[in-house]
Amino acid sequence: MLEILLATHNAGKVREIRQLAADHDWHWHGLDDFPDVPEAVEDADTFTENARLKALHYAAATGLPTFADDSGLEVDCLGGAPGVRSARYAGEPHNDAANNRKLVAALAETPLEQRTARFRCAMVLARPNEVLSETQGEVEGVIIDEPRGTNGFGYDPHFLIPSLGKTMAELSADEKNTISHRGQALRAMLPKIASILGAENNQQM
Ligand code: IMP
Repeated sequence: MLEILLATHNAGKVREIRQLAADHDWHWHGLDDFPDVPEAVEDADTFTENARLKALHYAAATGLPTFADDSGLEVDCLGGAPGVRSARYAGEPHNDAANNRKLVAALAETPLEQRTARFRCAMVLARPNEVLSETQGEVEGVIIDEPRGTNGFGYDPHFLIPSLGKTMAELSADEKNTISHRGQALRAMLPKIASILGAENNQQM
């Protein structure tokens, strides 16, 4: 069976990806299966570079084909902030409520039509010393002051999708997966994993 490492400690992400890849006979490991491997340092300036350095780091440390993602929110009138610093926008430790307060405060003087933003996600598949494939996804919205909805996480309650008239946090998990930056990047990545690693795996059998 094809073994792949998913470079995250987030059990929710592992579960979500296992579900979306359920048609494939693959075994997904999470980082919790490798407690002795040191953490990657995510210090690059773009989501793609961060995902790439994570995938290469954990592939080298484990020898397994490794799949990594990085994501966040870009607000146009803030010059793309919080960007790659989305998780820790309001400082350490990561705190969604503090991040949202800081975001709303930063936009206090900005009218709604100038609060355009997007969630971006980059995904990278690598094996030791080699990037095999990269995909991206993005979803456009505007940032609103009052939070709406209780689903999702992070900036979701403040991220309004004008075409739906709903925030990300007002969507069900399935609805969010259908349109989200992560869902798009993942749906683009799964056939690539199948064609690159699946073909190699079949040759070895
Ligand atoms: P990571 O890619 O899991 O490290 O996510 C980085 C940060 O970006 C999260 O902590 C959130 O603050 C933000 N973020 C990424 N994706 C989403 C999303 O789907 N909804 C809300 N916030 C998100």
